[in-house]
Amino acid sequence: MPFKIQHLQWLGGILAAAACLALGGMSLRTNLADHERYRHGGAQLARYNAVLVAANAVSAERGPSNSAMGGAAQDHAALAAALATKRADTDRMIAAAEALFAGESAATAEVQRLQADLHLKLGQGRAAVDAVVSRPADRRLGTDVAFAIEMMFAAADTAIELRDQLGRAVVADTPQIAAHVVLNNVAGKMREDAGRLGSYVVMMLTAEGPRRQNFQAKIAETQARLQDMRRFLASFAGALFKGGEVDGVFDTVNRIYFGESLPYARAVASLAAGAGPNADTFTRAYVPGMRPVEDLRVMIAERSQSTIDGLRDQASRLVLASLMLTLVVVLALAVISIVFRDGLFLPLLTARQQIIAIAHGDLTGPPVMSKVSAEVRGMFEGLDVLREQQRQRLLLEEEQRRLADQLRHLSRTDMLTGLLNRRALNELALESFGSADAEGRTHGVVLFDIDHFKAINDSQGHAAGDTVLAAIAREVGPELAPGATFARYGGEEFIVLLPDTSEAAAMALAERLRRAISRVAVPNAPQFVVTGSFGVAVRPPDAVQSWEHLVATADQRLYRAKRAGRNRTCGPEPVTVAPPLAAESAAPIALRTACGG
Ligand code: GH3
Ligand code: MG
Ligand code: MG
Repeated sequence: MPFKIQHLQWLGGILAAAACLALGGMSLRTNLADHERYRHGGAQLARYNAVLVAANAVSAERGPSNSAMGGAAQDHAALAAALATKRADTDRMIAAAEALFAGESAATAEVQRLQADLHLKLGQGRAAVDAVVSRPADRRLGTDVAFAIEMMFAAADTAIELRDQLGRAVVADTPQIAAHVVLNNVAGKMREDAGRLGSYVVMMLTAEGPRRQNFQAKIAETQARLQDMRRFLASFAGALFKGGEVDGVFDTVNRIYFGESLPYARAVASLAAGAGPNADTFTRAYVPGMRPVEDLRVMIAERSQSTIDGLRDQASRLVLASLMLTLVVVLALAVISIVFRDGLFLPLLTARQQIIAIAHGDLTGPPVMSKVSAEVRGMFEGLDVLREQQRQRLLLEEEQRRLADQLRHLSRTDMLTGLLNRRALNELALESFGSADAEGRTHGVVLFDIDHFKAINDSQGHAAGDTVLAAIAREVGPELAPGATFARYGGEEFIVLLPDTSEAAAMALAERLRRAISRVAVPNAPQFVVTGSFGVAVRPPDAVQSWEHLVATADQRLYRAKRAGRNRTCGPEPVTVAPPLAAESAAPIALRTACGG
């Protein structure tokens, strides 16, 4: 198969489309993987956040617990109701987190153990709190309160252990959100330690003697940890989340919690035994100051979630973009291929067919090419010009042929009589001789010359002579059989070529012609009778006799007729008949009936 540019174009188009599809496919795969990674990361972060919230709830339950244990008798019912509400919240949040991590719980013994431990310790802590609360306010012992708080600490510690365990599982599964998990973990821990510090103050307020020192040490230790976490969060949360929103909440944390609540707790802790507020009063004053710490935790959780979700959405936009771009490029390649095929290659093939058709002389209108480019239209306009030139050339050739025919006709015709001239007759005779020899046919010649024609010219003028010559041609024509050829042989000399004739028939014809020309009238000279002298010669089929020789024979006989007195027909010797003419009596020239001399 010969090489075609169109094939190259198709091949190039297919290769480009394949390369584009491969690139698009790779980009799509990467972006889909990113999308899946961040979607999964976002879901994992949401799950982890539920655990953080549940762990926080366990810690935060100490607030209403402490209030209930340390509150005044008249507030008992309200504090107990607040505690019940808080416990219900905690249970709901634990249940929600457990539902989200049901898979890990079923698969990991450690998670199962921690879950069971949490329920156990939370139950024990709540029982210890209830034991204190069930006594009248004045009969509650500091050691019992401290025990109940310690038990709640133990529940909170288990919740934190469970939280960290699940946090590790999440990071192991989704390392890309590790930074967010750590940051959220620290924010949760800060919230936890802020609560724990408050609890230590409550324990100290309800403790006696040397145990107070113990709690003061714990309070100092917790405060140092809180300061560490504040520095950690300030530097890393600020770096991870741009936009200043976190910084704003941080300012509030610094101002409210680290500027007011924490110094207040330290101040209460430094007071002598019995000089400070009761546990409920302290808790009511301290807990609201923890609000910004919780807000910070919630803010970091939200920002983490929205960052991961943003990355997921960006990946899905890239998925869509790579799909669209691939599709657009493949479509563009397909459109280019079709446009090239319909707008260039098909017209090229059509133009080739048209050029071949023009070369073969087909100049019919080309098929209308719609929707072709300007370049291609130019090519077809060029073909139209070529077609028009060919048409003009054909017309010119036709005209040349016509002129040549006319010229040939003129060269073979005698203008005065409209008869063939001698040259044309010679040609015809030679042709006829060829076929006559092959077919064994005879040829006859009747040659005649008008008698005393000069006298007509001299007396009536040359024009009258011309008229007579034309009239002779007209009179003789109808006498001839269709196969006979009549020509003007010279001035007033005529000749008839008779194919397939006998001497007798040729002689008879000559006599008929002699009579015919006598019917020609000389203009304004009725006294003239036009006569002619005739020589007849017939060439037998087997004779080796040339045309010139045949004519010469007829000519000799014509002159014999002249010599014999004119107005007669001479054939081969001795003498051929010449019947008398009706006009004989009127003729100024004597008419002879026999060829002699
Ligand atoms: P004869 O009987 O011996 O043939 O006598 P003739 O006068 O016919 O012969 P001659 O040869 O002496 O004269 C022929 C004349 O025919 C001379 C010439 O001027 C005239 N002639 C030849 N061709 C034409 C022609 O086309 N028109 C006219 N008007 N005269 C012609
Ligand atoms: Mg003559
Ligand atoms: Mg003559």
